[in-house]
Order: sequence, then C-alpha cells, then structure tokens
Amino acid sequence: MDYKSALSAIITRRRDELASASLRYVDLLAVDDVLRALDSEYRDAAVKGNEKLAEKTDLKIRGRLKELGEYDRVYPKPHCPLCLDAGFRGSDICDCVKRYAISKNEIRFPLFDFSSSTPGIFGEHAKEFEKRQKLLETLMNKFPANNKRTIVLLGSPGTGKTFLASCCAGAALSKGASVTFASAFEFVEAALKYHTSPLSAKDGALSRFVDADLLVIDDLGTEPIYKNVTKEYFYLVVNERQLSRKHTICTSNLTIDEIASRYGERTASRLFSGKECIAFEFSYADARKIKL
Ligand SMILES: [Zn+2]
Repeated sequence: MDYKSALSAIITRRRDELASASLRYVDLLAVDDVLRALDSEYRDAAVKGNEKLAEKTDLKIRGRLKELGEYDRVYPKPHCPLCLDAGFRGSDICDCVKRYAISKNEIRFPLFDFSSSTPGIFGEHAKEFEKRQKLLETLMNKFPANNKRTIVLLGSPGTGKTFLASCCAGAALSKGASVTFASAFEFVEAALKYHTSPLSAKDGALSRFVDADLLVIDDLGTEPIYKNVTKEYFYLVVNERQLSRKHTICTSNLTIDEIASRYGERTASRLFSGKECIAFEFSYADARKIKL
C-alpha cells in the first residue's frame, strides 16, 4: 500500500470510529436519565453562549460516562498519540502512516531514510558516497517538482546504489506519492505476462509500472532478455513515463555503453540524454558525476 492510501485509510478509520461513538452516545441518552439531563443542560448553555457553564457541564457529562463505563466508547482514543490519527505532524507524514502501509504488507521493499545512511561503511569512499547522497537528497526534497525526473545510478555492486534508490522511494512516499519499486526481473516478468495475455486480460498488468508517480527499477541488466519483450517494454514504459513527466529511477551494474548495446540506442538516449536525465556513477574509481 502506498502512503497516500495508508493516509486515507487512517483518516477513514478515525472518522468511522467517531461516527460510531456518536451513535453510542445517542443510544446512552435514550437509556440514562442523568446523562440526558446533563446533555440538555449542555445544549442550553451552548445555545445561550454561556461557555463557562457549557464547559462545566461537559466535564459532568464525561464524568457520567466514566461512571457508566462508557467513556472510551464515546471518546475513543486515537491509535496514534503523535498525530491523533490526522496522519500528519505539521507538514510531514506521521510515522504511523508508514507503519500502517508496511503492516498491509504491500510495500515489498526495504524502506530507508536518507538520515539512516552510514557513509562510514564505504571507508575511503565515504565522502564520494555522501556527495551523491546529498545530490539525490536535494532532488528528492524538491520532488515532484525536481527537474531531473529520470535518474540512473550506475556502478559495481555494494556501492550503495540500491540503498540510495530506496531512500529516494521513501522520500517520495513520505510526500504522499505512489511508488513502485521493482527489480528488473519483476518488471520483465510482468511485461512477459502482459505480452502473452489475451487482450481482455491485459488490463492493469503493467499499470503499476506506468502509473506510479515514481518507478524504481533495481538492478537493470540482471533480468532475462525475452524476444520482443525485455527491450521493447522497457523502452515503452520509460518513454511513456517521460511523456507524462513521471519520475523514474534505475540502478544498474552496467555501463552506459553496455546499456546502449543491451537495450538499444533509443532507450539509452531516453535514459541519459535530455534535460530531465541525470546519471550517477558509483565506481569510485572515477568519481565524476556523469551527464551526457
Ligand atoms: Zn500518527
């Protein structure tokens, strides 16, 4: 589940709980004379604008509800004491939304936060790693208005590419964006399924790749090459996303030349040319940020 859906589920859950709390209160009014008298006293005071009396009576009502053992049903506690189930703390999405989304078990990738990064593990390359992280962090801070919408992270395994890609995914999620994070293998399997399904069954098979506000394809180049599928659908999705100004991040152990020869020149040009593209190399031998 993405954060937007989790947020709306949390808000709906709170609304439903409050609605059944009011119903419970109405039921209690019907059976408890003391409560009913207090309630009408309260309304009277409120109508007359006598705030002090209203406040005092409200306390009495709460007291009566406690005597009846009904307080928690009429004033249900929010699940999250931090945001009181509003889902936001200031302008930030509350952690309870993240937890809810993950508990629904639909975010199937490790969620990282830029702040949990430990560049020290890259030893002498810590500074280079940090530099790339800062750049990505700056881009994601501006998300979705950042002008670099196609980001490719290239380099050997173990250089932190996937970690940073999932930090980017986490950052987008925390802004309420929908995110699909998939391995290249998962992507190509979905494409193959789409390709081999009858027209009537194609519906939605690729939508999570096409429609997500941010698509992360991890480990491009490790997936099998299926004729008429791998290259073709990868191009199709990347192209479609660029046309609709959506954000795409790919990680790969391949070089630009290897990507060009594996997926074709036009795909390479979608990934590396154009104003919206930026590529980072994580070889650490050549620390240059590359931009063709
Ligand atoms: Zn919360």
